[in-house]
Amino acid sequence: MHQLPDEIVRAHSEDGLLRLMAVRSTALVESAGRRHHTWPVATAALGRALTAALMLGELSLVGPARLTLRLIGDGPLGAVIADCDSQGRVRGYVSQPEVALPLASGGKLAVGAALGRGRLVVSRDLPDGQIYTSAVPLRSGEVGEDLAAYLDASDQIPSAVGLGVRLAKSGRVVGAGGWLVQILPGGERHLDLIERSAAELPPVSGLMAEGVATAEVLTRLAPSLRLVGLSSHAVSFRCTCSMAKARLAVAMLGERALEDRPTDQSTVETRCHFCNRRFLVPVESPSRPAGAARS
Ligand SMILES: [Zn+2]
Repeated sequence: MHQLPDEIVRAHSEDGLLRLMAVRSTALVESAGRRHHTWPVATAALGRALTAALMLGELSLVGPARLTLRLIGDGPLGAVIADCDSQGRVRGYVSQPEVALPLASGGKLAVGAALGRGRLVVSRDLPDGQIYTSAVPLRSGEVGEDLAAYLDASDQIPSAVGLGVRLAKSGRVVGAGGWLVQILPGGERHLDLIERSAAELPPVSGLMAEGVATAEVLTRLAPSLRLVGLSSHAVSFRCTCSMAKARLAVAMLGERALEDRPTDQSTVETRCHFCNRRFLVPVESPSRPAGAARS
């Protein structure tokens, strides 16, 4: 089946009291997993985090701002980090990509157990140089619930969230995505409708795997309402690393670290945490005054 392009779609109810968003992230989660060689539960956790960051970014970023979402748990995955800009470009990694756990109930990947107990931390890096950080304790470690708890606490806006990643037996990502509904002040009368439709909605990973249009997810979340202001844009895995940044990082290692490398080596290998790209940075041979001896 032809795979639909990754995108984020948003709309609101005609009365302006419901804000809805849906993301298709299948290709970018597959790309993230391939870059980092993640095992299935790590692919699922990273994919949910990347999708969650994109939705938070869409809600709150304008211009050259960035948002970083960190899931920091005491489980085997360690930390899961996702970072995005206001244009839907996201990158991320998991500190322990090779984690295997028995499946959770219903045959689902045990993301909550793999993350364990901990915190969800969100930082916004604004164009004026200010960084705003807020955090909530992880509720379940399943990411969707944790993101809803974060939005309830930080923005004081009741929110419902769905996030999911479906893998084939081979480990390939066949469906990934998310949705978000927020009930703005005065919109409490929509609460029952949203609770009902969210409960009836199949897992978003399945909808994406089946090729359901991203905008269709919004319609299914608010079936009896007229949605207006529909807009969409592409989302993708994109890193900001470069050879220039890698050179700077190596320069900051200092001469002592470089001296420890074998003398026949004229390059130092460094990897970008976020995308796992490898850089071979050329270095000068360590210069020592002739005749000087090391003690
Ligand atoms: Zn990178």
